[in-house]
Amino acid sequence: MRSTPNALLVQPRFPTPRKSKNHKDVLPIGLLKLGAWYKSRGWKVRLVHGNELLTDFEPDHILVTSLFTYWSEYVAEAARYYRSLFPRAKLLVGGIYASLLPEDCKRRTGADEVFVGVHPEAEKFEADYSLLDEELDYQILHASRGCIRRCKFCFTWKLEPEYKAVCSLDDRIHKNKVVLYDNNFLANPCINQLLEELAEVRVNQRVVHYECQSGFDGRLLTSKLSSLLKRARFINPRIAWDGRFAEVKRIHEQIELLMDAGYSSKSISVFMLYNWNISFNEMERKRLKCWEWKVQITDCRFRPMRQLYDRFNARKNQTVLDYFIHETWTDEQVKRFRKNVRRQNICIRHGLRFHSPILERKGLPKDEISYLKNAPIDMVRSRLTDAWFPSESQAI
Ligand code: SF4
Repeated sequence: MRSTPNALLVQPRFPTPRKSKNHKDVLPIGLLKLGAWYKSRGWKVRLVHGNELLTDFEPDHILVTSLFTYWSEYVAEAARYYRSLFPRAKLLVGGIYASLLPEDCKRRTGADEVFVGVHPEAEKFEADYSLLDEELDYQILHASRGCIRRCKFCFTWKLEPEYKAVCSLDDRIHKNKVVLYDNNFLANPCINQLLEELAEVRVNQRVVHYECQSGFDGRLLTSKLSSLLKRARFINPRIAWDGRFAEVKRIHEQIELLMDAGYSSKSISVFMLYNWNISFNEMERKRLKCWEWKVQITDCRFRPMRQLYDRFNARKNQTVLDYFIHETWTDEQVKRFRKNVRRQNICIRHGLRFHSPILERKGLPKDEISYLKNAPIDMVRSRLTDAWFPSESQAI
Protein backbone atom coordinates (compact mmCIF):
# COMPACT_ATOMS: atom_id res chain seq x y z
CA MET A 1 0.00 0.00 0.00
CA ARG A 2 1.38 3.46 -0.90
CA SER A 3 1.77 6.15 1.80
CA THR A 4 -1.61 7.71 0.98
CA PRO A 5 -4.07 4.90 0.36
CA ASN A 6 -6.92 5.29 -2.10
CA ALA A 7 -10.58 4.34 -1.74
CA LEU A 8 -12.83 4.07 -4.77
CA LEU A 9 -16.56 4.45 -4.10
CA VAL A 10 -18.76 2.86 -6.75
CA GLN A 11 -22.41 3.49 -7.37
CA PRO A 12 -23.49 0.93 -9.98
CA ARG A 13 -25.46 2.30 -12.90
CA PHE A 14 -28.94 1.41 -11.66
CA PRO A 15 -31.87 1.59 -14.11
CA THR A 16 -33.37 4.90 -12.99
CA PRO A 17 -34.77 6.38 -16.21
CA ARG A 18 -35.53 10.07 -16.50
CA LYS A 19 -33.65 10.85 -13.31
CA SER A 20 -30.29 12.49 -13.14
CA LYS A 21 -27.61 10.35 -11.56
CA ASN A 22 -27.63 12.63 -8.52
CA HIS A 23 -31.40 12.67 -8.19
CA LYS A 24 -32.58 13.02 -4.59
CA ASP A 25 -34.22 9.58 -4.71
CA VAL A 26 -31.04 7.69 -5.54
CA LEU A 27 -28.22 9.69 -4.01
CA PRO A 28 -25.60 7.24 -2.61
CA ILE A 29 -25.67 8.84 0.80
CA GLY A 30 -24.01 5.84 2.48
CA LEU A 31 -21.03 6.12 0.12
CA LEU A 32 -20.75 9.85 0.73
CA LYS A 33 -20.58 9.24 4.48
CA LEU A 34 -18.03 6.48 3.98
CA GLY A 35 -16.05 8.87 1.80
CA ALA A 36 -15.97 11.41 4.63
CA TRP A 37 -14.89 8.72 7.08
CA TYR A 38 -12.09 7.46 4.79
CA LYS A 39 -10.88 11.02 4.24
CA SER A 40 -10.79 11.61 8.00
CA ARG A 41 -8.30 8.73 8.19
CA GLY A 42 -6.07 10.28 5.54
CA TRP A 43 -7.25 8.34 2.49
CA LYS A 44 -7.78 9.81 -0.95
CA VAL A 45 -11.30 9.13 -2.15
CA ARG A 46 -12.96 9.09 -5.58
CA LEU A 47 -16.62 8.40 -6.41
CA VAL A 48 -17.72 6.90 -9.75
CA HIS A 49 -21.09 6.09 -11.29
CA GLY A 50 -21.21 2.88 -13.27
CA ASN A 51 -18.19 1.40 -14.98
CA GLU A 52 -15.50 3.94 -15.77
CA LEU A 53 -12.06 3.36 -17.18
CA LEU A 54 -9.80 4.81 -14.50
CA THR A 55 -6.23 5.45 -15.48
CA ASP A 56 -5.23 8.07 -12.90
CA PHE A 57 -6.49 6.46 -9.70
CA GLU A 58 -5.45 3.10 -8.35
CA PRO A 59 -7.59 2.06 -5.40
CA ASP A 60 -6.57 0.00 -2.39
CA HIS A 61 -10.19 -0.40 -1.39
CA ILE A 62 -13.15 -0.57 -3.76
CA LEU A 63 -16.50 0.00 -2.06
CA VAL A 64 -19.57 -0.88 -4.10
CA THR A 65 -22.98 0.09 -2.82
CA SER A 66 -26.15 -1.85 -3.49
CA LEU A 67 -29.79 -0.94 -3.44
CA PHE A 68 -32.78 -3.22 -3.86
CA THR A 69 -32.21 -6.94 -4.25
CA TYR A 70 -33.94 -6.90 -7.66
CA TRP A 71 -31.14 -4.64 -8.91
CA SER A 72 -28.48 -7.06 -7.70
CA GLU A 73 -27.28 -7.81 -11.23
CA TYR A 74 -26.10 -4.19 -11.61
CA VAL A 75 -24.12 -4.53 -8.38
CA ALA A 76 -22.54 -7.82 -9.42
CA GLU A 77 -21.64 -6.38 -12.80
CA ALA A 78 -19.97 -3.27 -11.34
CA ALA A 79 -18.11 -5.33 -8.74
CA ARG A 80 -16.78 -7.73 -11.37
CA TYR A 81 -15.76 -4.84 -13.61
CA TYR A 82 -13.69 -3.07 -10.94
CA ARG A 83 -12.30 -6.36 -9.66
CA SER A 84 -10.92 -7.10 -13.13
CA LEU A 85 -9.58 -3.53 -13.45
CA PHE A 86 -7.88 -3.58 -10.04
CA PRO A 87 -7.36 -7.23 -9.06
CA ARG A 88 -5.13 -6.38 -6.08
CA ALA A 89 -7.56 -4.01 -4.38
CA LYS A 90 -9.80 -5.15 -1.53
CA LEU A 91 -13.40 -5.32 -2.74
CA LEU A 92 -16.16 -4.47 -0.26
CA VAL A 93 -19.88 -4.45 -0.99
CA GLY A 94 -22.54 -2.93 1.29
CA GLY A 95 -26.03 -1.46 1.13
CA ILE A 96 -29.50 -2.98 1.08
CA TYR A 97 -29.02 -6.05 -1.13
CA ALA A 98 -25.70 -6.86 0.57
CA SER A 99 -27.35 -6.63 3.99
CA LEU A 100 -30.38 -8.71 3.07
CA LEU A 101 -28.60 -11.46 1.15
CA PRO A 102 -24.93 -11.35 2.20
CA GLU A 103 -24.08 -14.85 1.02
CA ASP A 104 -25.66 -14.41 -2.39
CA CYS A 105 -23.92 -11.04 -2.64
CA LYS A 106 -20.52 -12.50 -1.79
CA ARG A 107 -20.94 -15.29 -4.32
CA ARG A 108 -22.13 -13.10 -7.17
CA THR A 109 -19.86 -10.11 -6.66
CA GLY A 110 -16.73 -11.99 -5.57
CA ALA A 111 -16.39 -9.45 -2.73
CA ASP A 112 -13.65 -9.89 -0.16
CA GLU A 113 -16.05 -8.52 2.40
CA VAL A 114 -19.79 -7.97 2.46
CA PHE A 115 -20.85 -5.28 4.88
CA VAL A 116 -24.19 -5.85 6.63
CA GLY A 117 -26.21 -2.94 8.03
CA VAL A 118 -25.21 0.67 8.68
CA HIS A 119 -21.49 1.39 9.14
CA PRO A 120 -21.36 2.66 12.76
CA GLU A 121 -18.29 4.88 12.29
CA ALA A 122 -19.20 6.37 8.91
CA GLU A 123 -22.72 7.06 10.16
CA LYS A 124 -21.30 9.66 12.56
CA PHE A 125 -19.99 11.69 9.61
CA GLU A 126 -21.79 14.18 7.42
CA ALA A 127 -22.05 13.12 3.80
CA ASP A 128 -19.19 14.58 1.73
CA TYR A 129 -20.96 16.20 -1.22
CA SER A 130 -17.67 17.41 -2.67
CA LEU A 131 -17.23 13.84 -3.98
CA LEU A 132 -20.03 14.42 -6.48
CA ASP A 133 -19.32 15.87 -9.90
CA GLU A 134 -21.90 18.62 -9.54
CA GLU A 135 -23.08 20.95 -6.85
CA LEU A 136 -26.51 20.02 -5.57
CA ASP A 137 -29.14 22.48 -4.46
CA TYR A 138 -30.28 20.06 -1.75
CA GLN A 139 -28.83 17.88 0.95
CA ILE A 140 -29.92 14.58 2.47
CA LEU A 141 -30.22 14.13 6.21
CA HIS A 142 -31.44 11.56 8.70
CA ALA A 143 -32.96 12.57 12.02
CA SER A 144 -33.65 8.92 12.78
CA ARG A 145 -32.84 5.38 11.75
CA GLY A 146 -35.10 2.34 11.81
CA CYS A 147 -38.83 2.31 12.38
CA ILE A 148 -41.17 1.64 15.29
CA ARG A 149 -43.50 -0.43 13.03
CA ARG A 150 -43.07 -3.95 11.70
CA CYS A 151 -44.98 -3.94 8.38
CA LYS A 152 -44.89 -7.38 6.78
CA PHE A 153 -43.90 -6.20 3.32
CA CYS A 154 -41.11 -3.85 4.48
CA PHE A 155 -37.45 -4.61 5.13
CA THR A 156 -36.47 -1.36 6.87
CA TRP A 157 -36.91 -2.77 10.34
CA LYS A 158 -34.90 -5.83 9.40
CA LEU A 159 -31.97 -3.72 8.23
CA GLU A 160 -32.21 -1.22 11.05
CA PRO A 161 -33.90 -3.09 13.90
CA GLU A 162 -33.43 -0.39 16.49
CA TYR A 163 -35.18 2.97 16.25
CA LYS A 164 -32.65 5.72 17.03
CA ALA A 165 -33.24 9.44 16.69
CA VAL A 166 -31.59 12.79 17.30
CA CYS A 167 -33.37 15.85 18.68
CA SER A 168 -31.53 18.49 16.68
CA LEU A 169 -30.32 18.94 13.11
CA ASP A 170 -29.65 22.65 12.77
CA ASP A 171 -25.85 22.45 12.87
CA ARG A 172 -25.96 20.00 9.93
CA ILE A 173 -28.13 22.09 7.61
CA HIS A 174 -26.19 23.95 4.89
CA LYS A 175 -28.71 24.09 2.03
CA ASN A 176 -32.09 25.71 1.59
CA LYS A 177 -33.59 22.41 0.53
CA VAL A 178 -33.32 19.35 2.76
CA VAL A 179 -34.55 15.88 1.94
CA LEU A 180 -35.01 13.64 4.97
CA TYR A 181 -34.38 9.96 4.41
CA ASP A 182 -35.99 8.94 7.73
CA ASN A 183 -38.23 5.91 7.59
CA ASN A 184 -40.50 7.17 10.33
CA PHE A 185 -39.79 10.82 10.94
CA LEU A 186 -42.80 11.47 13.18
CA ALA A 187 -41.90 8.65 15.59
CA ASN A 188 -38.98 10.76 16.86
CA PRO A 189 -39.56 11.28 20.61
CA CYS A 190 -38.38 14.91 20.17
CA ILE A 191 -40.54 15.58 17.12
CA ASN A 192 -42.19 18.77 18.43
CA GLN A 193 -38.89 20.30 19.50
CA LEU A 194 -37.23 19.22 16.25
CA LEU A 195 -39.95 20.74 14.05
CA GLU A 196 -39.84 23.99 16.01
CA GLU A 197 -36.10 24.11 15.48
CA LEU A 198 -36.34 23.35 11.75
CA ALA A 199 -38.84 26.18 11.30
CA GLU A 200 -36.27 28.68 12.57
CA VAL A 201 -33.25 27.51 10.55
CA ARG A 202 -31.94 29.96 7.96
CA VAL A 203 -29.20 29.36 5.40
CA ASN A 204 -27.77 32.49 3.77
CA GLN A 205 -30.55 34.43 5.50
CA ARG A 206 -33.13 32.40 3.61
CA VAL A 207 -35.66 29.87 4.90
CA VAL A 208 -35.23 26.14 4.38
CA HIS A 209 -37.78 23.81 2.76
CA TYR A 210 -37.93 20.18 3.82
CA GLU A 211 -39.28 17.05 2.22
CA CYS A 212 -39.68 13.66 3.85
CA GLN A 213 -38.93 11.13 1.13
CA SER A 214 -40.67 8.20 2.83
CA GLY A 215 -43.65 10.26 3.89
CA PHE A 216 -45.24 10.45 7.31
CA ASP A 217 -46.70 7.75 9.49
CA GLY A 218 -50.29 8.98 9.33
CA ARG A 219 -51.21 7.12 12.53
CA LEU A 220 -48.98 9.55 14.42
CA LEU A 221 -50.31 12.69 12.76
CA THR A 222 -52.14 15.13 15.00
CA SER A 223 -53.50 18.57 14.42
CA LYS A 224 -50.52 20.06 16.23
CA LEU A 225 -47.95 18.03 14.27
CA SER A 226 -49.60 18.89 10.95
CA SER A 227 -49.39 22.58 11.79
CA LEU A 228 -45.78 22.24 12.90
CA LEU A 229 -44.91 20.46 9.65
CA LYS A 230 -46.49 23.26 7.65
CA ARG A 231 -44.82 25.95 9.74
CA ALA A 232 -41.45 24.23 9.29
CA ARG A 233 -42.07 24.38 5.50
CA PHE A 234 -42.33 20.67 4.77
CA ILE A 235 -43.51 20.28 1.20
CA ASN A 236 -45.41 17.49 -0.61
CA PRO A 237 -46.57 15.59 2.47
CA ARG A 238 -47.22 11.89 1.89
CA ILE A 239 -49.05 9.37 4.00
CA ALA A 240 -49.52 5.67 3.35
CA TRP A 241 -52.65 3.66 2.66
CA ASP A 242 -51.25 0.19 2.29
CA GLY A 243 -54.10 -1.58 4.04
CA ARG A 244 -57.69 -2.42 3.12
CA PHE A 245 -60.38 -0.13 1.76
CA ALA A 246 -62.02 -0.37 5.19
CA GLU A 247 -59.38 2.09 6.48
CA VAL A 248 -60.96 4.79 4.35
CA LYS A 249 -62.26 6.88 7.27
CA ARG A 250 -58.92 6.93 9.06
CA ILE A 251 -57.03 7.89 5.89
CA HIS A 252 -59.51 10.64 5.15
CA GLU A 253 -59.04 12.04 8.66
CA GLN A 254 -55.27 12.13 8.13
CA ILE A 255 -55.71 14.02 4.86
CA GLU A 256 -58.04 16.46 6.57
CA LEU A 257 -55.46 17.11 9.29
CA LEU A 258 -52.96 18.09 6.60
CA MET A 259 -55.48 20.22 4.73
CA ASP A 260 -56.57 21.97 7.92
CA ALA A 261 -52.90 22.84 8.46
CA GLY A 262 -52.87 24.58 5.07
CA TYR A 263 -51.75 21.95 2.55
CA SER A 264 -53.67 21.89 -0.74
CA SER A 265 -55.17 18.52 -1.63
CA LYS A 266 -53.09 18.22 -4.78
CA SER A 267 -49.86 18.71 -2.85
CA ILE A 268 -50.73 15.68 -0.69
CA SER A 269 -49.90 12.20 -1.89
CA VAL A 270 -50.96 8.78 -0.67
CA PHE A 271 -48.53 5.88 -0.94
CA MET A 272 -50.31 2.77 -2.15
CA LEU A 273 -48.75 -0.64 -2.26
CA TYR A 274 -50.20 -2.75 -5.09
CA ASN A 275 -49.44 -6.13 -6.64
CA TRP A 276 -49.86 -7.28 -3.06
CA ASN A 277 -52.58 -9.07 -1.12
CA ILE A 278 -55.27 -6.47 -1.84
CA SER A 279 -57.05 -7.20 -5.10
CA PHE A 280 -57.05 -4.98 -8.17
CA ASN A 281 -60.75 -4.21 -7.68
CA GLU A 282 -60.21 -3.11 -4.09
CA MET A 283 -57.24 -0.99 -5.16
CA GLU A 284 -59.50 0.64 -7.73
CA ARG A 285 -61.93 1.57 -4.97
CA LYS A 286 -59.04 3.15 -3.08
CA ARG A 287 -57.97 5.02 -6.22
CA LEU A 288 -61.50 6.37 -6.68
CA LYS A 289 -61.49 7.69 -3.11
CA CYS A 290 -58.26 9.57 -3.79
CA TRP A 291 -59.89 11.02 -6.90
CA GLU A 292 -62.84 12.13 -4.78
CA TRP A 293 -60.44 13.76 -2.28
CA LYS A 294 -58.31 15.15 -5.14
CA VAL A 295 -55.07 13.92 -3.62
CA GLN A 296 -52.32 12.29 -5.64
CA ILE A 297 -51.23 8.66 -5.36
CA THR A 298 -47.67 7.42 -5.16
CA ASP A 299 -47.99 3.85 -6.37
CA CYS A 300 -45.49 1.30 -5.05
CA ARG A 301 -45.38 -2.00 -6.92
CA PHE A 302 -44.68 -4.77 -4.44
CA ARG A 303 -41.52 -6.79 -5.00
CA PRO A 304 -40.40 -9.41 -2.47
CA MET A 305 -37.23 -8.41 -0.71
CA ARG A 306 -35.49 -11.57 -1.90
CA GLN A 307 -36.42 -11.12 -5.57
CA LEU A 308 -33.17 -11.02 -7.50
CA TYR A 309 -34.48 -9.56 -10.75
CA ASP A 310 -37.04 -7.10 -11.99
CA ARG A 311 -37.36 -6.58 -15.73
CA PHE A 312 -40.72 -4.87 -15.54
CA ASN A 313 -41.66 -3.13 -18.78
CA ALA A 314 -44.90 -1.16 -18.80
CA ARG A 315 -45.19 -1.43 -22.60
CA LYS A 316 -44.96 -5.20 -22.93
CA ASN A 317 -47.03 -8.21 -21.94
CA GLN A 318 -44.96 -10.04 -19.36
CA THR A 319 -44.95 -13.00 -17.00
CA VAL A 320 -43.48 -14.00 -13.65
CA LEU A 321 -40.29 -14.80 -15.51
CA ASP A 322 -39.88 -11.06 -16.06
CA TYR A 323 -40.95 -9.65 -12.72
CA PHE A 324 -42.84 -10.56 -9.55
CA ILE A 325 -46.61 -10.81 -10.03
CA HIS A 326 -48.59 -11.51 -6.89
CA GLU A 327 -50.78 -14.62 -7.05
CA THR A 328 -53.94 -12.51 -6.75
CA TRP A 329 -52.91 -10.15 -9.58
CA THR A 330 -52.30 -10.46 -13.31
CA ASP A 331 -49.79 -8.67 -15.49
CA GLU A 332 -52.64 -6.76 -17.12
CA GLN A 333 -54.00 -5.59 -13.77
CA VAL A 334 -50.58 -4.47 -12.53
CA LYS A 335 -50.09 -2.36 -15.64
CA ARG A 336 -53.62 -1.07 -15.72
CA PHE A 337 -53.53 0.08 -12.10
CA ARG A 338 -50.18 1.78 -12.59
CA LYS A 339 -51.43 3.54 -15.71
CA ASN A 340 -54.68 4.60 -14.03
CA VAL A 341 -52.74 6.15 -11.17
CA ARG A 342 -50.47 8.06 -13.51
CA ARG A 343 -53.36 9.40 -15.56
CA GLN A 344 -55.33 10.29 -12.46
CA ASN A 345 -52.35 12.16 -10.99
CA ILE A 346 -52.04 14.23 -14.18
CA CYS A 347 -55.72 15.15 -13.90
CA ILE A 348 -55.33 16.12 -10.25
CA ARG A 349 -52.23 18.21 -10.82
CA HIS A 350 -53.80 20.07 -13.73
CA GLY A 351 -57.39 20.21 -12.50
CA LEU A 352 -58.71 18.13 -15.42
CA ARG A 353 -61.82 15.92 -15.54
CA PHE A 354 -60.26 13.42 -17.89
CA HIS A 355 -56.97 12.45 -19.45
CA SER A 356 -56.44 12.26 -23.18
CA PRO A 357 -53.08 11.90 -24.98
CA ILE A 358 -54.72 13.44 -28.09
CA LEU A 359 -55.57 16.51 -26.05
CA GLU A 360 -52.11 16.53 -24.46
CA ARG A 361 -50.51 16.58 -27.89
CA LYS A 362 -52.85 19.47 -28.75
CA GLY A 363 -54.18 17.39 -31.65
CA LEU A 364 -57.31 19.57 -32.00
CA PRO A 365 -57.98 23.26 -32.60
CA LYS A 366 -57.54 25.42 -29.48
CA ASP A 367 -61.18 26.50 -29.17
CA GLU A 368 -62.35 22.90 -29.46
CA ILE A 369 -59.91 21.84 -26.75
CA SER A 370 -61.23 24.44 -24.34
CA TYR A 371 -64.84 23.47 -25.21
CA LEU A 372 -64.18 19.76 -24.64
CA LYS A 373 -62.62 20.33 -21.22
CA ASN A 374 -66.09 20.99 -19.81
CA ALA A 375 -68.26 19.20 -22.38
CA PRO A 376 -70.59 16.27 -21.56
CA ILE A 377 -68.85 12.90 -21.36
CA ASP A 378 -70.48 11.52 -24.54
CA MET A 379 -69.37 14.54 -26.52
CA VAL A 380 -65.80 14.22 -25.18
CA ARG A 381 -65.71 10.53 -26.08
CA SER A 382 -66.98 11.12 -29.61
CA ARG A 383 -64.16 13.59 -30.29
CA LEU A 384 -61.41 12.11 -28.13
CA THR A 385 -61.42 8.36 -28.52
CA ASP A 386 -58.64 7.97 -25.96
CA ALA A 387 -60.33 10.02 -23.22
CA TRP A 388 -60.10 8.35 -19.81
CA PHE A 389 -62.18 9.51 -16.88
CA PRO A 390 -60.66 8.84 -13.43
CA SER A 391 -64.14 8.96 -11.91
CA GLU A 392 -65.05 5.70 -13.65
CA SER A 393 -64.13 2.46 -11.96
CA GLN A 394 -61.98 0.10 -13.97
CA ALA A 395 -62.93 -2.86 -11.78
CA ILE A 396 -62.96 -6.16 -13.65
S1 SF4 B 1 -44.12 2.19 8.75
FE1 SF4 B 1 -43.05 2.31 6.78
S2 SF4 B 1 -40.88 2.15 7.25
FE2 SF4 B 1 -42.01 1.46 9.05
S3 SF4 B 1 -42.11 -0.78 8.84
FE3 SF4 B 1 -44.00 0.10 7.96
S4 SF4 B 1 -43.58 0.40 5.76
FE4 SF4 B 1 -41.60 0.09 6.83
